[in-house]
Amino acid sequence: MKVLVATEKPFAKIAVDGIRKEIEAAGYELALLEKYTDKAQLLDAVKDANAIIIRSDIIDAEVLDAAKELKIVVRAGAGYDNVDLAAATAHNVCVMNTPGQNSNAVAELALGMMVYAVRNFYNGTSGTELMGKKLGIHAYGNVGRNVARVAKGFGMEVYAYDAFCPKEVIEKDGVKALDSAEELYKTCQVVSLHIPATAETKNSINYALLKDMPKGAMLVNTARKEVINEAELIKLMEERADFKYITDIMPAANAEFAEKFAGRYFSTPKKMGAQTAEANINAGIAAAKQIVGFLKDGCEKFRVNK
Ligand code: NAD
Repeated sequence: MKVLVATEKPFAKIAVDGIRKEIEAAGYELALLEKYTDKAQLLDAVKDANAIIIRSDIIDAEVLDAAKELKIVVRAGAGYDNVDLAAATAHNVCVMNTPGQNSNAVAELALGMMVYAVRNFYNGTSGTELMGKKLGIHAYGNVGRNVARVAKGFGMEVYAYDAFCPKEVIEKDGVKALDSAEELYKTCQVVSLHIPATAETKNSINYALLKDMPKGAMLVNTARKEVINEAELIKLMEERADFKYITDIMPAANAEFAEKFAGRYFSTPKKMGAQTAEANINAGIAAAKQIVGFLKDGCEKFRVNK
């Protein structure tokens, strides 16, 4: 069996070493395609692969067509919107993600960006504190839970809304569960976004939802840019000089945000929530273990195209 690691943005060496150890211990062969610059290189590398580990790499119908021996693709990370799930299912390929492996990294970044913003981007002026502020966690999944844990350490009052997670699960963590996104945004001065990008959530963070946030509102996005209705967020920020937008996923309209909202807009230069040595190693090794479990025992625990 041949396992291909196809990463335009490579794993850290220590993560690749860990992946290799898992794959070779199972008696499989590991192949690496790192820092590729052309899709043709990926199309060529997948030809004889039985399993592929990817990061943000695009696996579409063309790649799946080229990968005649492929049984499984594992996205080392949480979001799997870079894989065409319908095409994978049609090709009888199992797709998995590695939930939870990078959640602490993303949560720490979210809180770090909140501190940065309430301290006026460290510009030397007097800011405010997170302690006592109401934080709304929009989606209480792996990242959301970690944000709650860290935010409580800061003394924030933590609320959450999740469309699928039962309220009892949220409240067991000492977090107040609310009944709707509307209620969350009305209640909380700071909202941290952790919804996946799906047909339902795309563009869902819009003017109607954001306009009722309390004075001094701040939206923190470590989820996906697609969930934001950028035109409506710009309109809102034009109307509300108290509104800050802080994001780990650069908006398509980055230049416009930066020009119009200096001092209350910040974007990381490129998505870096999961960019820690720990998250890299955890997600890569989890992906390798899931491939071995699937190929040897048929384990489909983290399958996302059921
Ligand atoms: P997760 O799957 O553990 O949690 C997602 C949560 O969203 C689930 O609890 C689910 O019930 C909830 N949800 C789904 N649709 C919803 C809706 N319409 N309304 C409210 N809740 C909804 O995922 P996670 O690990 O917590 O990651 C969350 C998102 O963060 C990912 O989908 C990914 O897009 C993003 N992410 C970004 C980075 C980064 O580098 N910035 C890294 C990891 C994940």
